[in-house]
Amino acid sequence: MVSGYLMPGILMRCIKFDLLKLVMLLKPLKPQNRCICCRKTNIKKSKEHLFPQWLIKKTGTDKTTIQWLGKWLPPLSCTLPICEDCNNEFNKKLEQSFQKIFSDLESGRGISDNEAELLVRWMWKTYGIAWCVTNSSDDYTHTYNLRERALYPINNMRGSISIAISLIENIDSSFSGAPMGFDSVNNKDCIFVSGVFSKIAIMVFLDIFVEEIPSNFCIYRLFSKRENFGYIKTFYPKVGFKTCTDAVGITRLCSIRLSELHDNLAFELIGLAQNKISKKIIDYRI
Ligand SMILES: [Zn+2]
Repeated sequence: MVSGYLMPGILMRCIKFDLLKLVMLLKPLKPQNRCICCRKTNIKKSKEHLFPQWLIKKTGTDKTTIQWLGKWLPPLSCTLPICEDCNNEFNKKLEQSFQKIFSDLESGRGISDNEAELLVRWMWKTYGIAWCVTNSSDDYTHTYNLRERALYPINNMRGSISIAISLIENIDSSFSGAPMGFDSVNNKDCIFVSGVFSKIAIMVFLDIFVEEIPSNFCIYRLFSKRENFGYIKTFYPKVGFKTCTDAVGITRLCSIRLSELHDNLAFELIGLAQNKISKKIIDYRI
């Protein structure tokens, strides 16, 4: 019998609010049949997998579950309603190239500057779609929508973007499949993205935060503009983790700090934009 338990009004309101928030987190937002990537309305919807099917099969997670929106779900069932055009363009311009880039990295063949940019944009796209489901896609960036960020060539902030990659020697038996998930926890802007996928740990970050990257990772900074020789392979990441447990643990830990640093900068830039002080906006154009 708990009816004698008196709950203060303020506490009741907090619980109601938390429940509402929880329901919103569990249920993907569907604002007026609008695509979360291009923001167009009255679209023809299609289902984009949270993680591509080839990666799900590669990591063996088609036989297990992943944690998403507070539930453990089979990754093949985790789909997002985006418009058919965005889905097709992402597939044509990012997904097919990224699959090859992934294979080259994993087998030690290395990547070029052009491929490094595609990797950055694949990370932004894949993490960004999941981010927009649990946040307002209006807040994705104050310059681009998700489709533009993922499909446009990177603008004048190109030379400020770096990637950190570490290969993993072994998938330890504590994993039922191989790892597949993001570790970044941004509140506002999505420049910083990190995650571990099969035997590769990846982080995309602003180069000013390079000191925060653990020594397990090899680092590559994009050329400040695309070059004619940008197709030549120049980045050959090494094995920096013995096991995927180490890789996931360290990537997750440093991602907390890196997410916070990038968030703080994003909030600072928004403040500067509101005050019409545009020096840093011109520098980064986030
Ligand atoms: Zn769209």
